[in-house]
Amino acid sequence: MSSSHPVSGPSHLRWLIGLFNVGFLVLFFWFTGFVVNDIGEIPAPSYAELESELIDPNLLKSQLQFQQELELTRSELDAEQRRLQTLRGETDSSQKTMDQLLEFQRLRVEKSMAISVDEQTAMAVAQRQFFEKQDQYQQRAAAVTQLNEELLSLEQQQKKLLAQLDESRQPVHREYEQRMEQHNWKVALWKLGVLIPLLLAVCGLFWGMRKGTYAAMVLMAVLAVSARVISVMHDHFPSQYFKYIFLGVILAVVGRTLAYLLRSRAHPRAEVLLKRYREAYEAFLCPVCDFPIRRGPWKFMAWTAKSVLKITPPVGNPNEVSDEPYTCPACSVSLYEKCVQCNSTRPSLLPTCPQCGFAAAVVPDSTRR
Ligand SMILES: [Zn+2]
Ligand SMILES: [Zn+2]
Repeated sequence: MSSSHPVSGPSHLRWLIGLFNVGFLVLFFWFTGFVVNDIGEIPAPSYAELESELIDPNLLKSQLQFQQELELTRSELDAEQRRLQTLRGETDSSQKTMDQLLEFQRLRVEKSMAISVDEQTAMAVAQRQFFEKQDQYQQRAAAVTQLNEELLSLEQQQKKLLAQLDESRQPVHREYEQRMEQHNWKVALWKLGVLIPLLLAVCGLFWGMRKGTYAAMVLMAVLAVSARVISVMHDHFPSQYFKYIFLGVILAVVGRTLAYLLRSRAHPRAEVLLKRYREAYEAFLCPVCDFPIRRGPWKFMAWTAKSVLKITPPVGNPNEVSDEPYTCPACSVSLYEKCVQCNSTRPSLLPTCPQCGFAAAVVPDSTRR
């Protein structure tokens, strides 16, 4: 007998089961994440490959050559400018030496003193050095000017080339975007191709086991896979499609649940009905219309479902307590009646007679499913 009456179990066990249900959900979601990630490893189209495929290789090559040439010219110009700087210093210093010697000679001439041969030689050497340096300086300066011009022309040519390249890169960009989109769809289809059958499988399993012991566990798997399907759709589908798919699914689920709730209110299932009867009898209220069941010592009292817990139950004289059949005066439903087996009084809307244990069908068969 006991196996047909599910027991809710001690509270710590229920807590533990709830906790493990959540754990199972998270782990299953995680697991599907690994699967989806592995599928996402399908190689994506490479931009570099596409470029080398679609752009004239000569154009790319000459662009590279120009780049190298430009860099070389820039570093040459840089070195030349530094040399020029050094030469300027040297020229300046030899000019200073010469000026000093000239000043010295001028003073000698003013004082009518003779200039020695050594002094004359030194003067000649200084003069020669100065002119040499100046010569070199002019040559270097000319080289720098030429390099600058070369650089300018190279830069202009490169500009033209880059514009040309930019133009020829546009179809590459378009092609790349197209291929990326195709790739994205391919990956999404692969992922959903694995996830949707999995979802159908766990849904089928849940439907088959929905009244069994493991229903909650399978439901967690259903929720985990559903969440993964939604996340994959969100990642891969353009938002204008995704929002319709997502809303459609949510609408279907909410609509289905609402329909179920409305149906179970209109035609409650046997167990729901029995639960309602039990709770009403516990509160001494008519299960059909909530009118107080005023039997025996409760005859002159009034209460509601809320206040019944706070009032002290009246104690009647056991000899005087009548246990007679009782019908709700408000809705005319029989609430206590004679047991067909033992003839004692029993609650009409509860399944079993408390005296003899005779079980009667109190809920019409039509509500059983
Ligand atoms: Zn009633
Ligand atoms: Zn009985």
